[in-house]
Amino acid sequence: SYAEMPSKPISGEPCPPRVLLIPSAGMGHLVPFVRLAAALSARRIAVSLLAAHPTISEAESRLISSLPPSLIIEFPIAPLDPSLFPPSSDPFLLRMEALRRSAHLLPPLISASAPVSSLIVDISIASNFLQVAAAVNIPCFVLFTSSAAMLALCSVFPSYSPSSGDIDITGVIKIPSFTFPLPLHDPNHFFKTQFVANGKALTLASGILVNTFSALEPKVLAALNSGEVLPGLPPVIPVGPLPPARKQTSWTSPEMRWLDEQPERSVIYVSFGSRTAMSKEQIRELGAGLEMSGCRFFWVMKSKMVDREEKGEIEELVGEGYVKRVEGRGVVVMDWVEQEVVLAHQAVIGFLSHCGWNSMMEASAAGVRVLAWPRGGDQRVNAAVVAASGLGIWPEEWVWEGEEGVVVAEEIAKKVTELMVDNGVAERVAKLAEEAATAVAEGGSLGNGLALFGRKVIV
Ligand code: UDP
Ligand code: UDP
Repeated sequence: SYAEMPSKPISGEPCPPRVLLIPSAGMGHLVPFVRLAAALSARRIAVSLLAAHPTISEAESRLISSLPPSLIIEFPIAPLDPSLFPPSSDPFLLRMEALRRSAHLLPPLISASAPVSSLIVDISIASNFLQVAAAVNIPCFVLFTSSAAMLALCSVFPSYSPSSGDIDITGVIKIPSFTFPLPLHDPNHFFKTQFVANGKALTLASGILVNTFSALEPKVLAALNSGEVLPGLPPVIPVGPLPPARKQTSWTSPEMRWLDEQPERSVIYVSFGSRTAMSKEQIRELGAGLEMSGCRFFWVMKSKMVDREEKGEIEELVGEGYVKRVEGRGVVVMDWVEQEVVLAHQAVIGFLSHCGWNSMMEASAAGVRVLAWPRGGDQRVNAAVVAASGLGIWPEEWVWEGEEGVVVAEEIAKKVTELMVDNGVAERVAKLAEEAATAVAEGGSLGNGLALFGRKVIV
């Protein structure tokens, strides 16, 4: 594990050059970086992880504190000008922008630390780092934390004009404009500016590591590498599903004990990731829908984007008497759960999910089928991958950010039930789980991809 890697010279010997990992804000970015750090360390490639303090969420702080301190290098980022970036915006996006704008602080930091062989930077902050790395002549790779479909969008979007409507890369993938991250429709949104800048800078990268695997997105991955998506892209290297950094976990809770008592493959896990809040009205419909479905469920409820602000009571949100009514059949949690442990539990069969990409990788690895309910960002593009690959089903008409209305209880109940009995999906998901296991086993694409990476950076 990475604990074994020395970060300081031992008895006067020089440090081996290390790979500097630069994650972006939010658990959806930190988690895959920590997994990548562990996977590289396991292959005797020395790594350090840049971390900016304070983190946006409590969950990020806890994860960073659980890592060996020798792995972490503190990144002193420059604050944003509040007149240009009002603090009322999404705090995770603001942090991404601050990180991106702090790329110039990297060279002095590097020259003060152990020698650095290369950088791996998160896609959402990539553009400035790629330019800075080129200027100081250090190979810079990108870790793409979302789907290969999303990478295709990121690659072609800089040359997209709103009048073109849907994106259609003939014979490869169609990306309807209603699935684009919402801010991409807003010419003045700084997410759009970031997105275009990052997409344009991709050709500067020495390689793009993507947390996906070929059986899930075969056509897009092949087309990204053949130049059909965008000529001039560097090698696109699938390294997914990135395995959990820790093999064993000691995580227990009353909900886990409840799960232990449930019949095999009977429970649907319901969660919308680490930063997607749901309105009170929608929470009520979801609660009623789960109750109406008659299925067993494990529901992680979230009403605030940043976990530090989550102080509500479950019944205030879902209605009085709910917890008692569903007792024995369903549990509701308003806290962090170890999702990879929940998904791997034998009682879990399905996942009602927002389609955050890490969640989709974890579902594939666990052989858990997905009911896709994208809520924003890259999630509709990911949901389309879920539907096309057979990992699950996606009711495309379900609303997401910026749209009026709610998805009603009856509709939720109907789709949950449909998912539970879908034999086609069951078969496909079992096959995908096998392919996912092959990808991360010895001789699979993860090992091959990291070996290729190692050959490119270690001279
Ligand atoms: N996660 C978790 N417990 C929670 C919520 C999230 O372990 O209660 C993990 C989840 O397993 C995943 C990450 O946090 O690895 C969230 O990333 P994802 O891309 O799925 O969604 P995001 O939170 O970025 O929207
Ligand atoms: N993304 C991208 N280019 C960018 C910024 C983001 O391709 O410039 C991708 C990236 O993989 C990210 C995804 O789009 O994970 C969704 O971004 P969003 O900000 O909506 O969600 P978050 O990353 O904050 O969970």
